[in-house]
Amino acid sequence: TKFEALGLQKSLLDAVTDLGFETPSEVQEKAIPILLEQETDLVALAQTGTGKTAAFGFPLIQKIQSDSRTTQGLILSPTRELCLQITNELKLYAKYEKNINVVAIYGGASITDQAKQVKRGAQIVVATPGRMKDMIGRRLVDISKIDYCILDEADEMLNMGFFEDIKDILSNTPKEKSTWLFSATMPKEVSVIAKKFMHNPKEITV
Ligand code: AMP
Repeated sequence: TKFEALGLQKSLLDAVTDLGFETPSEVQEKAIPILLEQETDLVALAQTGTGKTAAFGFPLIQKIQSDSRTTQGLILSPTRELCLQITNELKLYAKYEKNINVVAIYGGASITDQAKQVKRGAQIVVATPGRMKDMIGRRLVDISKIDYCILDEADEMLNMGFFEDIKDILSNTPKEKSTWLFSATMPKEVSVIAKKFMHNPKEITV
């Protein structure tokens, strides 16, 4: 399969070419057509290094309404490093999109600077749970209108003790949205989150 067969728009295919990606990885081949075609919840069992960032990143970018500055997509990830890595990747994927802003929110850096970036209009926010919860509490970010919520490395986030923070964050999102959960393993806590916050998720394993 080629990227052209997955349903991605031209601007994203051009970004794929620039990145030097020749063929989609297995998780990309399985996830991208589903996420582009259907407004559905998805549970994807995939390790790091399988290309999962692009598996959710390309469909997310294609779905964003770039004529609105509202925050439409939220990605939660366990660590600051991963948060920055995802943000940088998404910026590369979105290089030919006009007016799509991706902002990283994570602990250990200025909350004021991050709040300023959000205020300028961040359609996609990539966040660690602790800082996200903090910024919601201070009303520095509004996730009440998101259409897409991605939980990346869900097992890691729960291992790190973010269960309550995640529940708290998800309770601030609208009921009508699509949730895409990526995890290397499926321990009980991950299925609890899936059961509580997702509706008939499609499942893929790579
Ligand atoms: P990830 O699993 O998302 O952390 O991606 C692992 C690495 O593989 C990243 O450096 C990506 O840029 C790269 N990558 C993702 N998809 C592809 C692809 N289809 N072909 C080649 N490299 C890729």
